[in-house]
Amino acid sequence: MERIEPCLEASLPCETHYVLLIGPPGSGKGTQSAQLCATLRLPHLASGDLLREHVQRGTVLGRKARSHMDRGDLVPDDVVIDMVMDRLGSGDCVSGALFDGFPRTLAQAAALDRALATSGRRVGLVLYIEVPDAVLAERLGGRFLCRACGASYHVVFHPPRRPGLCDCDDGELYQRDDDRPDTLARRLNVYRELTVPLIDYYRRHGVLVTIDGNQPIATVTTQLYAELSRVFSNRTEQRVARR
Ligand code: AMP
Repeated sequence: MERIEPCLEASLPCETHYVLLIGPPGSGKGTQSAQLCATLRLPHLASGDLLREHVQRGTVLGRKARSHMDRGDLVPDDVVIDMVMDRLGSGDCVSGALFDGFPRTLAQAAALDRALATSGRRVGLVLYIEVPDAVLAERLGGRFLCRACGASYHVVFHPPRRPGLCDCDDGELYQRDDDRPDTLARRLNVYRELTVPLIDYYRRHGVLVTIDGNQPIATVTTQLYAELSRVFSNRTEQRVARR
């Protein structure tokens, strides 16, 4: 695993870091956020993972969410917002979290802003991973996930060492139902219609940074770290200067 810049690592415990990864399905949010969270020791708040857990456990929330997910639609805002706010209220998220796949609508973004503002916190950085549509279809068609730990592989771009098995824990690899071509097209349309407006929303808030996601995984990771380092170490320096 790549090393993070020492200045960023050192600044983490005394900052509140709420970072969002935004991007279309297949942009690499899951892969990148797993890396970033492990290195930065930030909680990983992935709404898709939380929803899949509910579906697997057969909870009321999971039963409400399932049909929307199977169609490639978004789960209704009220359901997702309650679920994510509940997770955000856990003790480990008190000084930061990395959000992956949330918010996906303007209503969710406003709910997150309100929730953080109640305790003087705010979204510090939004990393938008941009990938052309043609590349997305190719990527998602070959994606496989580990049933045990959720690690993501790709038959061409990031194959496991042994076919069908996870490198980390030997878990069985499977293809998500919603990565099938028909559902995938719908997910991309939903992304364009409901999630793309967030790019402008966060640009206006002055926290958006665009990263070219059509590059090797390690290059994207390095650029994400560079942005995190730049934004949060600047802020630490400003705070120190104000003292
Ligand atoms: P993901 O794993 O992020 O690709 O999410 C898988 C599916 O879960 C999506 O296609 C949606 O149906 C649902 N989902 C995940 N996050 C959200 C969200 N923030 N709002 C609404 N639905 C979501």
